[in-house]
Amino acid sequence: MKQYREARESLEEDTLLLFRLGDFYELFERDAERGAAMLGITLTKRHEMPMAGIPFHAAEGYLTKLLNAGHKVAICDQLETAQTGKLVKRGITRILTPGTVLEDRQLEASSNHFILAMDIDKDIPVASWLDLSTGKFILMKSSNIQDFFSVLSSLSPREVILSEEWDQKFSKMKKSSVLEGELDRMLAQVSKTERPNFDFDRKAGAREVMESLKVMNLEGFGINLDHPALGTAGALLVYIQDVLKGKPGNLTRIEEFKQGVALILDPATQRNLEVFKTTAQTRKGSLMDSMDETVTPAGARLLERFLTSPERDLNEIRRRQSLVEEFSRVPSIVRDVQEVMRSGSDLERILGRLRNRLVRPRELGGLRSTLRGLPKIQEVLSENQHNYPSIGELAFRVDTFEELASLLEDSLEEELPAEIKLDVKGEGGRVIRSGYDSEFDQLRELGSGGKKWILELEASERAKTGISNLKVKYNGAFGYFIEITKANLHLVPDHYVRKQTMTNAERFYTDELRQKEKEIINAEEQAVAKEQDLFLKVVEKTLEFADGLSRVAESLAEIDLFSSWGSIHRDRSYCIPEFVEDQDILEIEQGRHPVVESVLKQESLGLAGTHAFVPNDCMLSANRNQIALITGPNMAGKSTYIRQVALIALMAQVGSGVPAKACRLSLVDRIFSRVGAGDELARGNSTFMVEMNETANILNNCTESSLIVLDEIGRGTSTYDGLSIAWSVVEHLHGSDNQGPKTLFATHYHELTRLSESLPRLKNFSVAVKEWNDEIIFVRQVTPGASERSFGIQVARLAGLPDSVVGRAKEILSGLETGASAASISESSNNSSSQEKTLMNKSLENYKEMEGPSELDNSSNSKKKKQRSDPSQLELF
Ligand code: ADP
Ligand code: MG
Repeated sequence: MKQYREARESLEEDTLLLFRLGDFYELFERDAERGAAMLGITLTKRHEMPMAGIPFHAAEGYLTKLLNAGHKVAICDQLETAQTGKLVKRGITRILTPGTVLEDRQLEASSNHFILAMDIDKDIPVASWLDLSTGKFILMKSSNIQDFFSVLSSLSPREVILSEEWDQKFSKMKKSSVLEGELDRMLAQVSKTERPNFDFDRKAGAREVMESLKVMNLEGFGINLDHPALGTAGALLVYIQDVLKGKPGNLTRIEEFKQGVALILDPATQRNLEVFKTTAQTRKGSLMDSMDETVTPAGARLLERFLTSPERDLNEIRRRQSLVEEFSRVPSIVRDVQEVMRSGSDLERILGRLRNRLVRPRELGGLRSTLRGLPKIQEVLSENQHNYPSIGELAFRVDTFEELASLLEDSLEEELPAEIKLDVKGEGGRVIRSGYDSEFDQLRELGSGGKKWILELEASERAKTGISNLKVKYNGAFGYFIEITKANLHLVPDHYVRKQTMTNAERFYTDELRQKEKEIINAEEQAVAKEQDLFLKVVEKTLEFADGLSRVAESLAEIDLFSSWGSIHRDRSYCIPEFVEDQDILEIEQGRHPVVESVLKQESLGLAGTHAFVPNDCMLSANRNQIALITGPNMAGKSTYIRQVALIALMAQVGSGVPAKACRLSLVDRIFSRVGAGDELARGNSTFMVEMNETANILNNCTESSLIVLDEIGRGTSTYDGLSIAWSVVEHLHGSDNQGPKTLFATHYHELTRLSESLPRLKNFSVAVKEWNDEIIFVRQVTPGASERSFGIQVARLAGLPDSVVGRAKEILSGLETGASAASISESSNNSSSQEKTLMNKSLENYKEMEGPSELDNSSNSKKKKQRSDPSQLELF
């Protein structure tokens, strides 16, 4: 118990301690109570102390469960083999935390697994993050706390390390309340740990980073030694060493995340556009999911990284585009390459484990299976180099590691165990192939030759003694012995020495048997040790190739991703967008929504074409058609349309093909997307407040090269407020200069269409519907011009509102349209109560009093002179 106390005291309060006792990991006291509840295991008591245990062999599953729930778990293991009557040495061998796991089963294969540290260094937000399973290590400083969180939230880290003073420093920063909400949201989803301030020291951090990367300076990575984010990198490394009980072994590089060269999507936009997850929090149905036909986890992780930082570097975008284009032309190459890659394994993570001292036969087996495929991949890719130069370039980067490949082939058995077992008597590790090392073969033969001898002995002793059921056996405690049943004891020869008495039998040994036993055990022990030794040498040799291997792992991830984009491009008739530099435009011919389109395809029932997605064009430019105002009834397809435009712009800057017939565009620096309150029901009470906060955030942060997609902004409040707000937001975005951010604005306030009279760069569009026998038919076609009216009543009828209600609504509407007073409409009805009448009169009065949209705008850009139309001339109904 003293050992337990010591271990427990060395840990943080919230870390669960699993204490190895024989075949179990035991939890004690408070850990036992928490653990039992979380894992659904039995809580027992011994001497009044709560206890709960999990079997050692099944520990993995329980650990995964705890880690996924965001808990930290310390493992206290036996450090030597148990001997009777002696206290076994125990110690904490590893602390598992959600952000530092390495085991395959604890990692999500297709996503990056970051642990992140952040701080505010003299008003500069800084962070660094690391995927220990792949060695990806990145740091970032940001000039703007808003953009800072945009990047962090796209990473979805599993674990966050903060300095003790974080709260204090953060509260001093100038920021919006949206941001606080975003931070809370992020921190609520992860395991977070506070570390002392001195862990975040910049100088110490630089030293720590250099030591971990085994370099003398960081110039090779383009990072200055006084980079403000080095403090967070240091804090991260110190923390990781604490939990790994050793230095991370697979860090070879550190990169700076350059915010200026990435397209920024803030957290709300990531959610609205459902980039990584849908609003229902699933991966399926997200943009990422629809762009993912990769066949390896590394390919899927690369896609995630690409989406986290879409490019603003045209050279890189064009490099990617030409790969996609080339792969799309050669489906046979894609097929062949994918087939080979499917049988490989996750090289990046295998290297991560090997380099972090998780050394197991099966890891090398995985590596070998990947190496087996490399010559084929290289061959297929370089087949037709002059027609496909970009693919040829990739082929050039695939080394085949012949020396290592033949080492692994020669040394290792075909079927490999997960672990190399040291203490399994007579079994050996079954890791090293026979024929690889003659000394080892001899030892192994001696051991098994000894066993043959035992069988021969059994036969000859039976013949000599005439005891037909005489047996030569082995057990761990007594070694080899001869067993004779009670009935035959009178036949036992004199030179047999009695060893043990059983109920039905007696056990004996002979000098000869003793002698042989020694030889066998000796040979076996030596064989096991030799095997272990040989195995470790193979690992060591393998690690000499680690840098080259991890470069190839990266190339393989690219090959996987681009070849899969190539086939998506072909199968779904995407196009490669053309980027222009001399104009600021976004032109899409027959664009489609990548996700909605495939959903419709999957459920294509009924008449051919019934469910086909209707493509639509888009023509935006900063200086002519800057703002597209899209009106149309509910369900017409407005939201889908404006999102598809944003998604196409995003996909273009990630370097993939886009769902359209043709697309010409210029780079955008940010995409903003907001939905009016009401659509985002999951977001709590003051949705309107959130909506307005977020809108303010856009107006304050957009630049002329941003793309803005606003969906029903202003809906979260009363009609007049909402309309006025929407009105002034549009005016603000338009501004009085001769260009502004390209904007799509969907609204059911068709009154806003009047804005085109006063704002020259605003163009009206509507999503067409047809009326047929008083029913409406959605044609999903976006056409120039304003929609005539909102068709709300027809939609309500489609939705199944009772006929009487629909009929009455029509009466009211036509009354309002002809300008009749509310009282007269009400009079014609005997259904409406007097309370309703007063309400209606009131609201009409309010309308008459309304002089114009109120001034919402108090943003930093308000210096701009506003152009205003005269809203008092509006006909609201
Ligand atoms: P709105 O925002 O105008 O109310 P939505 O964009 O939400 O309409 O579209 C309503 C539904 O119409 C969507 O769920 C989608 O299934 C379908 N839809 C939208 N656009 C298209 C299109 N271009 N082609 C086919 N179906 C579409
Ligand atoms: Mg909508």
